[in-house]
Amino acid sequence: LVRLRERLARSQGGLGRGLLALLSRDKLDEDTWESIEDTLLTADIGVAPTQQLVEHLRTRMRVEGGESPDARTVLREELVALVDPTMDRRLRITGEDGRPGIVLVVGVNGAGKTTTVGKIARILVAEDKSVVLGAADTFRAAAVDQLATWAERVGVEVVRGPEGSDPASVAFEAVKEGIDRGVDTVIVDTAGRLQNKAGLMDELGKVKRVIEKQAPVTEVLLVLDATTGQNGMIQARVFSEIVDVTGIVLTKLDGSAKGGIVVAVQRELGVPVKLVGLGEGADDLAPFDASAFVDALLG
Ligand code: GDP
Repeated sequence: LVRLRERLARSQGGLGRGLLALLSRDKLDEDTWESIEDTLLTADIGVAPTQQLVEHLRTRMRVEGGESPDARTVLREELVALVDPTMDRRLRITGEDGRPGIVLVVGVNGAGKTTTVGKIARILVAEDKSVVLGAADTFRAAAVDQLATWAERVGVEVVRGPEGSDPASVAFEAVKEGIDRGVDTVIVDTAGRLQNKAGLMDELGKVKRVIEKQAPVTEVLLVLDATTGQNGMIQARVFSEIVDVTGIVLTKLDGSAKGGIVVAVQRELGVPVKLVGLGEGADDLAPFDASAFVDALLG
C-alpha cells in the first residue's frame, strides 16, 4: 500500500505541488487565481467543481488582519471535501442467505476490465475468500484467455463458454457454479462494445437478469481509464444509463496526471470511486480513500 501511495504521488504529485505553490504566494492576485483555475481544469476536475473550489479558497485565504491562513491546511481540507470523504466506498462482495456476492464488471474495451477482475480476485483470495470468475466477454477470444490466465495465476476457477457463445449463459453458469460450490464471491467480466448502445444495453440487461434469477447482483463496477478525459466521462454516462453502477474503478492513474477525474466522475454519476488502478501488475489495485488520495497529491 505504501508503494502504491508512492506511485500515486509520482503521477499526481505535480498537481498537488503546483496548486500548493500557487496558493502559497505572498500575494494572491487575479493572475494567480487564474493559474490555479487552469491547473485544476488541466487535471480534469471539471468546470463546476473548479469554480466551487476556487471560490472556497478565495474566501478562506482572505487575510483580514492577523496572520494569513496556512495554504497547505486550507488546500488539504478543501480538496478532501471535494473528493467527499463521506461516500461509502466499501465493495459489496458478500451475498445474503448463504449465496455469493455477485460483482458485475462493466466498461469499454481497453479500459482495464479483465485486469481489474484479476486484481480483485487476487485481493479476495489473499483475504481467504473463495472466488469464481465468469468470462462473459465472449466476443473476444483473447479476453477470455486473458481472464483464464489471471484465474490460473490467482488460483481461482473460471467459467467460460465457447467463443461467440451467449454472454448471459456464461454469466448464468458462473453464478450457478458459485452457488453450487458455496463460494463467497462471483466476479463476472463483460463485453464493452460501445459502438452499438442498444445492443450493449440488451446484452448487459440480459446478463443482469439471468444472474438475478439466482442471486442479486451486489456490486456493479464501472471501469474507466483515467487517461481518456472527457471521452471517459461520456462513456461513464452511457454505462450509467444502461446499468445501475454502484462503484467506479479508475484505472491507469499511474500513467496520467489527471487525477481530477475522480472528482468529475463522482459528481457526474453520484457514485463513489471505490478502487484505483496504478499499474499493470497483480498488486497494482488499491482501495480509494479521499484523505490518502489528497495526502498523496500534496506529498
Ligand atoms: P479490457 O478490455 O477492459 O478488459 O482491458 P484489459 O484488462 O485487457 O486492459 C487493457 C490494457 O490496460 C492492458 O494492457 C492492461 O495491462 C492495461 N491496464 C489495466 N489497468 C491498468 C492500470 O491501472 N495501469 C496501467 N498502466 N495499465 C493498466
